Amino acid sequence: ADSALSRFATDPVAAVPVPGPARFRRQPRFDTIDLSSNTNPFLGADAVYPHLDTTELARTYLTTIAKLPGHQGVEALSPEHVLFSSGSVDGAMLLLAALASPGESVCVTPPTFPLYAHFARVLRLPVVDSPLRGDDLDELDVEGILAADPRVTFLCDPNNPVGTRLDRAQVLDLVTRTRGIVVIDEAYAEFSDTPSYAGRVAEHDNLIVLRTLSKAWGLAGARCGIALARPGLVDALRRVQVPFGFTDASQRAARHRLTNSHEALDSVRRIRAERDRMAAALAEHPSVERVFPSETNFLLVRLHKHEQVMARFAAAGIVVADTGFVIPATCRVSIGDRRANDTLLAALSASV
Ligand code: PMP
Repeated sequence: ADSALSRFATDPVAAVPVPGPARFRRQPRFDTIDLSSNTNPFLGADAVYPHLDTTELARTYLTTIAKLPGHQGVEALSPEHVLFSSGSVDGAMLLLAALASPGESVCVTPPTFPLYAHFARVLRLPVVDSPLRGDDLDELDVEGILAADPRVTFLCDPNNPVGTRLDRAQVLDLVTRTRGIVVIDEAYAEFSDTPSYAGRVAEHDNLIVLRTLSKAWGLAGARCGIALARPGLVDALRRVQVPFGFTDASQRAARHRLTNSHEALDSVRRIRAERDRMAAALAEHPSVERVFPSETNFLLVRLHKHEQVMARFAAAGIVVADTGFVIPATCRVSIGDRRANDTLLAALSASV
């Protein structure tokens, strides 16, 4: 972790100024006439650039998630630990651009969310695969990752497309022992029973936790990602961020959703109840070999007759993710509303 700090201190990005004119980084004054930004004065609020000062929204986000189960430690974080981005995938791109230099490698743990490796390749960074192990694909090869000595390791926990949580002792062992940065993508954390790593970013200086408002909070279209890390890392990400990328519309949607958090949290309870009902129903089904344990809003299902079942879903107009090319004979089913879920069960029965 010390070397993560010292390498950061010598990184050229530390000398790059934070983008965006300084006047956008302060809270606005309401008694000024703004003739500074070449915008259209006749077309209302959307003609004005978004504010870059998201301190209040960061505070709202932290106080909202601090109340969730398994989020101990979040109450001790401050807005300096928070960076908003245009979706959490944007945060993944920013951190690679800010923290990895040419030739430094990026480790991913397949089967996992494919965009981490994609972004690494886009940035011409070598990618090291460290496949997950165990029946539930929830075990890391910690020694293998340490031996590869990557600059950045991406973990997805709960993991997409499997749905399981990674072995907690191994994750913490890796964070403690690696010389590099560990990123934990917690896109699905609100659906999980086991503790989040969000509150840990203050104590591990090489840890970045990515969160999103796209899943539990229902704002996939508004593009609201959150990176949590110690202030020095947050600052490094901010320096490479496209100014105004976290739009006014995103900020408004996030503020509304977080200040009315009961709506989203009620829906999470319903989704979890449906997930557990679907997991039980699918596990009983003769076409299903196995339902992976899930702490997300989807289920990974291994099928006996994968091809036939996929064809039957397609014929019934049901789109599921065919994950057969990464985990043999599987598909990933998102939890829908009760009617959609029952339609899927009916289509599955028609296939036997
Ligand atoms: N991370 C994971 C693990 C995901 O599954 C997804 C959505 N498919 C994302 C990130 C995307 O999040 P966002 O919309 O915030 O970019």
